[in-house]
Amino acid sequence: MTEKPLQTRDPLEETSAFQRALIDWFEADGRDYPWRRTTDPYAILVSELMLQQTRIETVLERRYFERWLERFPDIATLAEASETELLKQWEGLGYYNRARNLQKAARVVIDDHGGVFPDSLEKVHDLPGVGRYTAGAVLSFAYDRPAPLVDGNVARVFSRLFDHRSAIETTASQKQLWAWADDLLPEKGAREYNSALMELGQRHCTRAAPDCLACPVSAFCATRDPEALPRKKPPRETVHVVEHALFAISGGRILLEQESGSRRRGLWRLPLLAEKNAVGLPVLLRTKYAITHHRVDLIVHGATIQEGQVVEPTLLNDHPPRKWVDLESEYPEIAMPSPFRKAVDQVIENENNQIDFKLRP
Ligand code: SF4
Repeated sequence: MTEKPLQTRDPLEETSAFQRALIDWFEADGRDYPWRRTTDPYAILVSELMLQQTRIETVLERRYFERWLERFPDIATLAEASETELLKQWEGLGYYNRARNLQKAARVVIDDHGGVFPDSLEKVHDLPGVGRYTAGAVLSFAYDRPAPLVDGNVARVFSRLFDHRSAIETTASQKQLWAWADDLLPEKGAREYNSALMELGQRHCTRAAPDCLACPVSAFCATRDPEALPRKKPPRETVHVVEHALFAISGGRILLEQESGSRRRGLWRLPLLAEKNAVGLPVLLRTKYAITHHRVDLIVHGATIQEGQVVEPTLLNDHPPRKWVDLESEYPEIAMPSPFRKAVDQVIENENNQIDFKLRP
């Protein structure tokens, strides 16, 4: 169990002291992320949507934020980009609706706000893909306005700080968490304060191993049992799925089909086969990936379909459109879900090493 100092101060009674302790720590020890070097609301919105379902380390290591801004440096450039470019720049981050929403938001700023990013909480909240947390983040990080925010990190910090023992997803808990965010927020310096609060959750008040001895606000913290908080509703049960995909190659081109589901709509991937239609086809690769609460076994089968050949409706699921894509010129540029990109790369590598590759005539 975590060693933790006893509470000696009440954050709601000594709000200024609480804010000061947090901000002093952040000024001395806060991390220098690329999105903290800008006050451009568009860039802040990009970073917030990127970080919604992706780890900070992933965004940093692969320079997603910097590369996005190099390609779409402003609202106008993003508003005019093609969907292919948009999805390509987002490739690897998953949850592609975030990229589409960014473009929709850019178009709303152009059409409804004359190209000037709005600076009121209400108008930012009205942009596509922007929830209450994101609106608070843009207002405080870009404009230094006293806008409260609660994300997963802040919810964890508050539930421990106030020893909140109800499941945090309930309406009553959410109301309480936002009320604390509002009560503790300083009138001036919301940019630093909100950054500090979130970083406390990322670095010290972590889910599995809270470091209470190093915590700058331990004197204000009520819980005696941080690891038990926050309480959450039981997670959704994991669903196991098997996907059979077809790897057909002809004259240096592979057959791909476009996703039509809501999550990865517009991206290109290997065509999927109904299980009964995969029987007897050679297996080129078995791999696994996870998406939301699904655990997917992806089995890639080979078939000698030639370009131009009519594909039997019994062979493939009914998922048009499909196209043949040149492996050298088109394939590197086309937007694909990461698990399929990895699978295709692996099959090609196996082919180059001649491992179990029986498709070439
Ligand atoms: S806020 Fe988190 S890290 Fe700080 S003392 Fe409380 S439980 Fe520990």
